Amino acid sequence: MTLDELRIQALVCTACDLAERRTNVVFGEGNPRSPLVLVGEGPGDQEDKTGRPFVGKAGQLLDKALADAGLSRNEVYICNTVKCRAADWSSGKPQNRPPTEQETLACRQWLLPQLSLIAPKVILCVGAPSAKNLIKKNFAITKERGQYFPCEFARTAIATLHPSYILRNQYGGSDGGYALLVQDITKAWMAAQKLLDAPAKPMTNVEQIESEPATTQIQDEQPELF
Ligand code: URA
Repeated sequence: MTLDELRIQALVCTACDLAERRTNVVFGEGNPRSPLVLVGEGPGDQEDKTGRPFVGKAGQLLDKALADAGLSRNEVYICNTVKCRAADWSSGKPQNRPPTEQETLACRQWLLPQLSLIAPKVILCVGAPSAKNLIKKNFAITKERGQYFPCEFARTAIATLHPSYILRNQYGGSDGGYALLVQDITKAWMAAQKLLDAPAKPMTNVEQIESEPATTQIQDEQPELF
């Protein structure tokens, strides 16, 4: 199975209710050979309209953060935890909402093979729902962002703040956490580059990270990856 074949199958998915109201399945885009994959929460209005991840306001902030980290979208691969827009339609006008557990679970049939086929060195979980899906259920984003965690689908995973959260928090002169987003992207990219050069077998200290129960990882006692 190739990534394109998987994409073609995902485009007609009806595994959950989100299929009924979506305009486009937002599978993912970028460089499928990149050592770094960013996984967000799910498409919003603009993404649903265009079929492309992170193209609305949050996406523009993500692009700026990538640029400030010295990167462009073409150097990484970007996708989402769920591939269809989750919205509440009860008022007649769709309001974005977080995907339910059942929707997230249903979409793992696309996300997991997608990650396996790309086989990145590092996954950057963008926002708590992605970190809860790929790192651990009880991930605490403000406390645990920016740290290495074991992950089944990459040599390591890091989580960062979601650009939508940052936008909501940019008031009173605060950057809302933007500098942390740039810092985490930079850290994830540098780790991915170093792991590209590393021997195929996990290095001892990576094994150390991977053998540690994730819940025992504390910010100040984080083992270094290199
Ligand atoms: N937020 C996400 O998590 N993903 C997108 O693609 C857009 C906004």
